[in-house]
Amino acid sequence: MKRVAILGATGSIGTSTLDLLEAASERFEVTAVTASSNVAELAAIARRTRASLAVIADESRLSELREALSGSNIQAAAGGEALAEAAVSADLVIAAIVGTAGLAPVMAAVRAGKTIGLANKEALVSAGALMIEEARRTGAVLLPIDSEHNAIFQCLAGQDCGQVSRLILTASGGPFRTWSAEEMARATAAEAVAHPNWSMGAKISVDSATMMNKGLELIEAHHLFALPEERIDILVHPQSVIHSLVEYADGSMLAQLGSPDMRVPIGHILAYPERMATGARRLDLLEVARLDFEAPDPVRFPALRLAREALRRGGAGPLTLNAANEVAVEAFLAGAIHFGDIASHVEEQLTRMDKPLPASIDDVLALDAEVRRATRAQLGTGAPSC
Ligand code: NDP
Ligand code: MG
Repeated sequence: MKRVAILGATGSIGTSTLDLLEAASERFEVTAVTASSNVAELAAIARRTRASLAVIADESRLSELREALSGSNIQAAAGGEALAEAAVSADLVIAAIVGTAGLAPVMAAVRAGKTIGLANKEALVSAGALMIEEARRTGAVLLPIDSEHNAIFQCLAGQDCGQVSRLILTASGGPFRTWSAEEMARATAAEAVAHPNWSMGAKISVDSATMMNKGLELIEAHHLFALPEERIDILVHPQSVIHSLVEYADGSMLAQLGSPDMRVPIGHILAYPERMATGARRLDLLEVARLDFEAPDPVRFPALRLAREALRRGGAGPLTLNAANEVAVEAFLAGAIHFGDIASHVEEQLTRMDKPLPASIDDVLALDAEVRRATRAQLGTGAPSC
């Protein structure tokens, strides 16, 4: 029995993880499940999976959670320390909280030398060097759930990147791949979250539409596979069949292919180093028939340039990029700014902030809060520009 904890169990990745765990319940035991504020769903999941611990991040909801779990022997808890407790309760922790809210619990798992199935890319982007260094010290293992990084991990087949000349991250191009800059500037939240190939949470769907998701993934790949950004390329591949590629020194390229269904990479990590059935639709290559590739448009998708700049600058560049983006995406989803303004707000923060990456997680979180405050102040004063 593998013991698994799920951070962010009520979300899109959390739900897919639960589908897989429940279909293979003879192989897995769920120790803990967490959510932000969705008490009813969290309690239902905890009862269904017979978890020992259910944690709600919002401390004001603890009594509600206790009530929802009354009559069961599931422990109810709330707040940051309880999230960290959930993170170290298992052999394998699935990190599926969205945003830097997931950083502290992921770091708790890293400190405890756990194996982490990482979906929460923002945590690695914000504190990359610190997290990798701590994992090296404790023996913690980061296994990538993000489909592109999981594809690369599969292509590497246990080898490091010593013989690799280049990684190629594929991108669907999102819902605005074929839209003009003018159309994109006025896009609504509903249009931005309507991803053509993948069904995901709202934040990552907007990130796919701006292609900031690929920017964050570039930084994620840099940390996971220890390659400089100039050896990581991005290629638009609208069919989302090839999930990424590795090019070796001899010119060979290896790719991983599959249906665009997150149960495939999640199942790969849950069963690793074995394999498990995922229920994902088999890829029918005759039906796919063709695979198309395009270079990303740097004018309509400035997020890619910003991510490269943040990584080249180093220090707190990636943290700044991520925190400003989280605030700008929230503001866009709330109707406070236009789609076309997301990247300019991120760029503004990146230009202003030039600090080293702090040496402790508390200081990383304090700097993250500072960038958020600065971005909110900027959003409050700047009128939408379209
Ligand atoms: P969702 O928005 O669907 O789910 C987010 C989860 O995190 C929910 O369980 C939510 O709880 C919880 N959560 C939100 N805010 C907080 C907080 N402040 N503290 C604690 N928990 C919180 O997101 P996704 O599942 O789409 O994405 C999760 C992560 O995985 C992201 O980092 C994303 O980039 C990454 N990822 C997602 C993919 C996808 O296909 N969805 C693909 C690759 C990576 P509640 O329900 O109570 O709000
Ligand atoms: Mg991805």
